[in-house]
Amino acid sequence: MKYNQEYYQRNKELIKRRSSEWRKTFKGKLYFQKYYQQNKTHKQEIQQAYHTKVKIAVLEHYGNGECACVECGEKRLACLSIDHLNGGGNKHRKENTGYGNNFYLWLKRHSYPSGYQTLCMNCQYVKREEKKECKHYAISQTPMFQEPKAVSTGSERMASPK
Ligand SMILES: [Zn+2]
Repeated sequence: MKYNQEYYQRNKELIKRRSSEWRKTFKGKLYFQKYYQQNKTHKQEIQQAYHTKVKIAVLEHYGNGECACVECGEKRLACLSIDHLNGGGNKHRKENTGYGNNFYLWLKRHSYPSGYQTLCMNCQYVKREEKKECKHYAISQTPMFQEPKAVSTGSERMASPK
């Protein structure tokens, strides 16, 4: 190891030049392309494993100690996600936390703030629909809501000047 370092120091310029020349050859290009691809996949795998670990920890925390939906008990990881108890999740994520993996990391780094729960997709949709129905009900009950105007008849159209 020591010998290699000494050799490198003594011949630094020569090695660098040869290396850069070799990189430009067809074989060199092919080698670096392959190395880059292999390394990229390996890095991605490590990163993905870390993100999955963080996701499970976050889902467990907001699932009251279990990696499962708090409503129905669904346990399949692909179905589970974090729900904002008071809504407004999209706006909050856009402005502060980011989406997907970044959101899970944000929750972990902020020591699991309150106001979230683990829900499966089905339960999220049900929650969303229930809220929507409430909103429609509220609109139809306000005095601002007006009945659509009566459709004009053919005789009216004929009587009106052109
Ligand atoms: Zn559920």
